[in-house]
Amino acid sequence: MGKIDELKKLESEIASVSLPLRESNLVFGEGNPDCEVMFVGEAPGFHEDRLKRPFVGRGGQLLDKLIGEIGWKREDVYITNIVKRRPPENRDPLPEEIEAYKPYLTRQIEIINPKAIVCLGRFSMNYFLPDAKISRDHGRVFKVHPVRSREGSQRVSASNGVDDLIVFPVYHPAAALRSTEMMNTLREDFKKIPKVVSGEFGTTESLSPARLDKEMVRLRSPRKRPPQTGLF
Ligand code: URA
Repeated sequence: MGKIDELKKLESEIASVSLPLRESNLVFGEGNPDCEVMFVGEAPGFHEDRLKRPFVGRGGQLLDKLIGEIGWKREDVYITNIVKRRPPENRDPLPEEIEAYKPYLTRQIEIINPKAIVCLGRFSMNYFLPDAKISRDHGRVFKVHPVRSREGSQRVSASNGVDDLIVFPVYHPAAALRSTEMMNTLREDFKKIPKVVSGEFGTTESLSPARLDKEMVRLRSPRKRPPQTGLF
């Protein structure tokens, strides 16, 4: 099955199972399934819920602009969220909501198999890097070691079975809209993205390896590499 069909199947699966926030619409994600970069936000807001598309409000317009400023188009990348339905009144997603949608984001990442994930904001960043702090770690390059989901992974390399994934946290566009300083920082961080993807930007390995559960990714630690168990 091709990536488009696999993603459609996954979307139908999410729609058919009982997950939190069912009173809101499903906002699965959109973009180029063959992209090198996947942008992952927190959860849909009012406009996203209405249109069933991620990042289409003011934050989304800024995201499109910043993507344009680095010479790319929104259609070149894939955009989604960790939680796929809007929390009431745009409140922060609850840990149990993040947990409930986790297997689906894991599969989505496996299907798309991007080189890098740009985390939009701290919720997305802490999904991949639980110990990271957005004020300290935005604009730094991390590598995480994906663990395969039950369905298996296409991310296979000869050395360890699963390739590393670049994770690059930046401020959330909505936060940048509230502060000129954050806007400038976000713009500077965005300028690094093409180099992050091409590997010209070095990796930060200063965070301690994260304690992550079976469906998450692990911070790469060359000295204490987790055993490669494949399926969990
Ligand atoms: N904020 C997010 O984190 N995601 C969206 O899709 C829209 C706003």
